[in-house]
Amino acid sequence: MDLVKLKSVLQGEPKFRYKQVWQAMFRDFISTWQENTTLPITLREKLDEEVPLDIDAQMFGSKDNDTIKALITLEDKNKIETVLLTHIDGRHTVCVSSQVGCPLACEFCATGKLGFKRNLTAGEIVDQILFFNRHLLKTKGKDHKTNNVVFMGMGEPFLNYDNVMEAVRIINDKDGLNIGARHISISTSGIIDGINKFAKEDLQVNLAISLHAANDKLRAKLMPIDKKYPLGKMLRAVKNYVEKTDRQVMFEYLMIDGVNDTDKDVKDLIAIMDQPLYMVNLIRYNPTGGSFQPSTNEKIKKFKNALLRAGVKATQRYSMGDDIDAACGQLSARNAK
Ligand code: SAH
Ligand code: SF4
Repeated sequence: MDLVKLKSVLQGEPKFRYKQVWQAMFRDFISTWQENTTLPITLREKLDEEVPLDIDAQMFGSKDNDTIKALITLEDKNKIETVLLTHIDGRHTVCVSSQVGCPLACEFCATGKLGFKRNLTAGEIVDQILFFNRHLLKTKGKDHKTNNVVFMGMGEPFLNYDNVMEAVRIINDKDGLNIGARHISISTSGIIDGINKFAKEDLQVNLAISLHAANDKLRAKLMPIDKKYPLGKMLRAVKNYVEKTDRQVMFEYLMIDGVNDTDKDVKDLIAIMDQPLYMVNLIRYNPTGGSFQPSTNEKIKKFKNALLRAGVKATQRYSMGDDIDAACGQLSARNAK
């Protein structure tokens, strides 16, 4: 959806039209303007022609159907992936992409292997959630819609800061998707400028940091961005964020066998998890084709217990959708062929 064009088409229309249009998009989840009978026919036709609502997507469901991946073809034919996760309690999380590809080339990430094409617009980000809300409405009825949004799909959200924030405001807006800020999370690889700006936003949106290694030597090998934003400086920005907002920060830590899961690694990690509002989320590495292997469950348990014993809050993320390459780090639009 092209929000800029939408605004220009609605220019000159009476104020209440905006309300009708937003209601149609974000409450009724219409997929063509013709479905909205409150609008005059001429306006409907104009909107359908200039700001079409349809989203071109192919869906892939996991075996147990708790995960659905959508491969979306954008207007310029670029492709992105977005994932719907349905939890045991029936709530729905959508994992959105913020860029086509990603410029940061992390060693373990399938998206990173694609390189970078372009930033997504706010409309293209919001569309990913609209797509699944329309799907949920059709298949499960009006009690089902997206409850949580995580910016953990393709791309680095803080390298597309303004569009991501514009999308966040629509997602959060009472007249928009009306999803509480506490149910929105942004994950960054540690872009300091973004963390600093984010600290100044008047928003309760959650911040997650992709850490994956607790010393620069290893982190720079896994995540080239560490050379530009080394750990010490990055953590100072995070500490400043916590002081300003008093909000918890989640550090994501992939568990890769023999690479970052040794006794020394856990020691280094304990040393830098020195704030009460820090917590570690351990994620078993999802294979993406290289030489890395996931840590064994036993090792992950040991690692987690060492953290807990040292007084560091730690949880393990349960991975969904790996059979359809929809799990964290596996998004590569490779079905695009
Ligand atoms: N670019 C942002 C957000 C997208 S990545 C970031 O890096 O934070 C979302 C999460 O998936 C990050 O924590 C990322 O490190 C993780 N991830 C990447 N590759 C993965 C893999 N192969 N297995 C499991 N998680 C992975
Ligand atoms: Fe980009 Fe995040 Fe993947 Fe790194 S992990 S390449 S920052 S999407």
